[in-house]
Amino acid sequence: MSVRKICVYPDPILREPTEEVTLFDEELWILVSDMLETMHVSDGIGLAGPQVGIAKKIAVIEYNGEKYVLINPEIFEKEDIKTVEEGCLSFPGIYEKVESPEYIKVRYYNENGELIEKEIEGFLACVFSHEIDHLNGKLLIDRVSPLKRQFLKKKMAKQAKGN
Ligand SMILES: [Zn+2]
Repeated sequence: MSVRKICVYPDPILREPTEEVTLFDEELWILVSDMLETMHVSDGIGLAGPQVGIAKKIAVIEYNGEKYVLINPEIFEKEDIKTVEEGCLSFPGIYEKVESPEYIKVRYYNENGELIEKEIEGFLACVFSHEIDHLNGKLLIDRVSPLKRQFLKKKMAKQAKGN
């Protein structure tokens, strides 16, 4: 297992279209375990492929001691939109109140290529939704007000200069 570098906004990889995963092979399993490890050491609860420079439809989540590996995920029902505070490993130190579904129906493959269909409620539904947004190039910054977006862009540009 190895820890991968997390891509931070405005890294263009975060906006790149992602490809479907077609091979459930050792390369995929290595990527999954690296992503889980990277998420752990970064204290995250979710991490999507583009965040480690991989433009593929893959994300990992760990919440309440439960691990989820999402491959080619698709949300086909969303309800119960609430305002919740979200953070993102690609926006270090930033937490924003955004609207997010607290009920979803989702379909995805796990790392062994098994098709899974689930109903998810509560904050975990927000986490799933956030990670699946990443696979469609949609980021936390797109979900705040235009004024707030300007502010966050400046803040992230400043952070990037500092590095
Ligand atoms: Zn994120």
